[in-house]
Amino acid sequence: MGRRASRPSSPKWPGEDARRSIALQLPSPLAPAYNPPFVDLALTEGLVKRIKAIYPGSFDPPTNGHLDLIERGSKIFDELVVAILRNPEKDPLFSVADRRKMLEAMTSVFDNVSVDTFDGLTVDYALRVEARAILRGIRAISDYEYELQMALMNRKLQPGLETVFMMPAEKYSYLSSRLVREVAQLGGSIECLVPDLVEQKVREKIDVAHKFANREQSAGKTPSEGKSKFRKKKL
Ligand code: ADP
Repeated sequence: MGRRASRPSSPKWPGEDARRSIALQLPSPLAPAYNPPFVDLALTEGLVKRIKAIYPGSFDPPTNGHLDLIERGSKIFDELVVAILRNPEKDPLFSVADRRKMLEAMTSVFDNVSVDTFDGLTVDYALRVEARAILRGIRAISDYEYELQMALMNRKLQPGLETVFMMPAEKYSYLSSRLVREVAQLGGSIECLVPDLVEQKVREKIDVAHKFANREQSAGKTPSEGKSKFRKKKL
C-alpha cells in the first residue's frame, strides 16, 4: 500500500487573532460594573425635581377641610401621600382600615395622591417613603402655635425635611374632625362638612352606637366608658 498523501490540517477556528479580538469584545469578569453618574436632583438646577410630600394626620373622620388641603397639595407636589397615624392611645370613631377606605375613595380622582398608614415618628416615616416635605393645615391662629412647635421639633429631628403649611378655603376654616363627630352625635347635619360617603359612614356608626347604648340602658347597665365618645356632648 502506498502511503496516503497527508491531508492538509483543517484550519483551527478561531485562530489566535480571532480569539484575541473576541476576548476584547466580551466584558471581562474583572471589568468594573457600569455605574451611571450619580445626580443629586436636590442640587441640580434646571432639571425637573420630583417632590414627594406626606400629609399626616388622624382623619377621624376625613372632612372637606382635609380634602381641600389634599387638592391644594396635589397641585404643588409631584406626589402626595395621605398618611394615617396609627395611634393606639386614641379612642377613634373609625378604625384605621375604615379611614383608609374613605380616604382612598375621596382621593381616587387625583393621579398623584395615595393613602398609607404609619406609626412612630412622622419624620422616620417620611424618610422611609423618601418624602422631602410634610404638609400640614393651618385653619386659624389657634392651630399655629401647636403646628409651629411640631414643625420645629421635626426639623430638629430631621433637618432635611421641610414642613409646608397650607390654608384651606375660608368656609372650612372652622371645620375639624372633632366637631363633625360632635355635631353628628347630637343629630345635627354634617352634609356640607364631609363628603357624602363619609356622612353615610358616620351616620351608620352613630346609629349602631345609639342602638348599643339603648340596649345597655334597657338592661339596666351604666353606659360603658369604652363607648363614651358617642356620649360626650360638648356642643
Ligand atoms: P391631627 O390629629 O394630626 O391634628 P387631623 O386629622 O385632625 O389630625 O388633622 C391633620 C392635618 O389636617 C392637620 O395639619 C390639621 O391642621 C389639618 N386640618 C384638619 N382640618 C382641617 C381643615 N378644616 N382645613 C385645613 N386643614 C385641616
